[in-house]
Amino acid sequence: MPLSLQVPFSEKDEVKQLGAWWSAEQKTWVIPDHVSNITRFKKWIPYQQGIIIRRPYRLLLTARRCWKCDKVTPMVALAGFNYYSFEYLDENDPESTQEWIKGEEPTVFAFATEMDEHLNDYLKEHFPHFRLTHSKTLEEKTWANNCQLCGRLQGEWHNHEDFDGAFCPDPYEGSPFEFKLHEMALEMDFHILADFGSLDFNEIELQNGGSY
Ligand SMILES: [Zn+2]
Repeated sequence: MPLSLQVPFSEKDEVKQLGAWWSAEQKTWVIPDHVSNITRFKKWIPYQQGIIIRRPYRLLLTARRCWKCDKVTPMVALAGFNYYSFEYLDENDPESTQEWIKGEEPTVFAFATEMDEHLNDYLKEHFPHFRLTHSKTLEEKTWANNCQLCGRLQGEWHNHEDFDGAFCPDPYEGSPFEFKLHEMALEMDFHILADFGSLDFNEIELQNGGSY
């Protein structure tokens, strides 16, 4: 649903005039779903880096064969269809202003190192094999897929960046496993720190006709 804002009491009229709504339920000012440009709310958006994902809240699901036990295990990636990333207006000039720039193409994200708690709670409940995991290769903790059967980490670099990885299938052969979008029942927009994955939605076939 909406994106929550941090608004000092003295600025409530200003934010309201720009189109924010007061959510009595969440006890916060929010940018309603129908607002398609969030840039004007920049000073009240409580983040200055990373990615904000707005409705629809989706995961891309597929599978792979575990490198350790050779069983087929489910794979999860965070997907963005309506998202903003905080970027320099002039990418060659690090002195230029940063703004929330709307993503033009649907994408998946990889190597998430931070995410909002309500998203993490949802993942814990529904996809416990996709969790914050220490990677020796990356030398940090990122949300990653672990084998549902033997528990081994299924390296996210391979999944997202390698030729033939679960989320970057061979462009000629395709993937031996299906791709499916999963709608997460979340109430609020969420924020993540993550990289863009290399998957191109135009190159995969989605189950159920593939409309997205
Ligand atoms: Zn396994």
